[in-house]
Amino acid sequence: MSSTRQPRQVILKTAAEIEQMRPAGQMVGETLDELREMVKPGRKLSELDQYVIDKFKRLDVIPTFLGYQGFPHTICASVNEEIVHGFATERQLEDGDILSIDLGATIDGWVGDSARTFAVGSISEEAQRLLDVTRESLMAGISVARIGVRKGDIGAAIQEVIESAGYGVVRGYVGHGVGRDMHEPPSMPNYGRPGSGMTMRRGMVVALEPMATVGDPATAVLDDGWTVVTADGSLSAHFEHTVALREDGPAEILTQA
Ligand code: MG
Ligand code: MG
Repeated sequence: MSSTRQPRQVILKTAAEIEQMRPAGQMVGETLDELREMVKPGRKLSELDQYVIDKFKRLDVIPTFLGYQGFPHTICASVNEEIVHGFATERQLEDGDILSIDLGATIDGWVGDSARTFAVGSISEEAQRLLDVTRESLMAGISVARIGVRKGDIGAAIQEVIESAGYGVVRGYVGHGVGRDMHEPPSMPNYGRPGSGMTMRRGMVVALEPMATVGDPATAVLDDGWTVVTADGSLSAHFEHTVALREDGPAEILTQA
């Protein structure tokens, strides 16, 4: 899930606390791997949600999104022009769709938050390129993120990949700190000016989550009060990892199996 909230105080984590965050991150990564295998034409979004509900219940994992500010599902499922925060309805996926799944898990009080956009069956070249570029922009942001760089350095790296491909960067929804709360300070925009903004410090754990659009990145919210779509109806993709700045060198991705 992405944040619209304003920063309060950054909560730095000790190395031991970052170790405690691993199970939640791994759970999210592993579950997204499993969902990838389930995404195909004819699959209902609600079936993907139910899979996670059952798994988390079995393993005593708290579904972070369910009930968050009233959100009614365990996954966010956003199809095509939907960017983030889509509902896991009875909608059936169709060949050529793209589906963004965002998932949060809480284990031992610590949160992991990650998202990926999947191809449903065979997708257009444009859709595939959007997925590739958005994933690449996330990895570019992660590769820049380390102790001592500025927030703007990370945002600029993400923005550069997306905009140089001719795509739009969504600005109204951003990444965020992660810890015992899903949305902690600081906000982590997917755009920025190199050398500007807060200095990244040891112990910061943040979710980086670029949202890119084929067309104009202006957004609208559907009548359900949650689902964020592109205002022009163009395709959108979303990739997210929770990463930790535990030691010098590259940030560590927590949300993979
Ligand atoms: Mg998320
Ligand atoms: Mg998030």
